[in-house]
Amino acid sequence: MHAMNHVSHLDLASQESHRRFALPPVHLFWGGEPPNQRIYYYHYLLLFNEIKNRPKRDLPALTTQEWRSILGNTYWKKQWPQNDGNNLSAFDPNVFWKYGGTLLFGDERSADVTAGRYNPTSQLSCRCGVQLATADDTDIRQVVLYYLNSFHVYEEIREMERHQFPTTFEKRWKDQKLLVNEVVEMCNPSGGGVNPDFFCNEKVWGSWVQAVRGVVADWNGFEHWDWGSFSGVRTMGINELSGPDCHRFTVRLLAFFIHSFVTRLGYYPSPLLRPPTLAAHSCTDHAKKFGNALIALPFPSSSRQS
Ligand SMILES: [Zn+2]
Repeated sequence: MHAMNHVSHLDLASQESHRRFALPPVHLFWGGEPPNQRIYYYHYLLLFNEIKNRPKRDLPALTTQEWRSILGNTYWKKQWPQNDGNNLSAFDPNVFWKYGGTLLFGDERSADVTAGRYNPTSQLSCRCGVQLATADDTDIRQVVLYYLNSFHVYEEIREMERHQFPTTFEKRWKDQKLLVNEVVEMCNPSGGGVNPDFFCNEKVWGSWVQAVRGVVADWNGFEHWDWGSFSGVRTMGINELSGPDCHRFTVRLLAFFIHSFVTRLGYYPSPLLRPPTLAAHSCTDHAKKFGNALIALPFPSSSRQS
């Protein structure tokens, strides 16, 4: 009998490299050299809708290396016609996507892009065009990372749901995704807007915790999790808990959430809690002009009635 009771770091590392991501891993944007980072943000903003809608189009998730090559110029350069000393086909970084790319677009759309039948570029939410300089704006970078994290949370939970409920997933997800949107948006459910006091407002906080519980309540192991002094956790009235109890319960709930990902999908999930924002990808002029509450949040299923 083998007495090994620990896992080699090397095993973990090699497993991790096989992970595929529905969306570009967040760390790619803060790793690397500044000139590369700039190109990454530029490509992300310019191809925003294409990247964000890939999972909805059921295109396969990509490895870190594949995402890196798409966010940079590497992948696109390979799509361009090989130039035999002919300057006309020299790579142009402003229209890097011009010759398509099946890895990002899928076969059919890639052919449409190459033929000039489909324009894959996105505008900022203020409808201004994306410039390379836009990618240097630290406010925009912050907004990009904020929402990218939210999109990851959404896709990770979807992956978990598909994993745990393979036969009923499609039906379940119709309801679940509404709860997931509540969790990632961290908005005030009664007012619909962002509550700057999110973490201090007990009612808003309680509703958020309730949405998280709704997401995970049917997940494997929920019933047997160590809930400490709490009982009847599935139906417990969260808004009736005292403030400190609500926070204690939150910690146990988040621990269950993380544990589920680590044990079932083999990775640590993207963080659920960030200071909420409604800021949009808008240029400096329009960010000033409209403040930051002008957008429809970029979630496909989010119905934001005012
Ligand atoms: Zn603008």
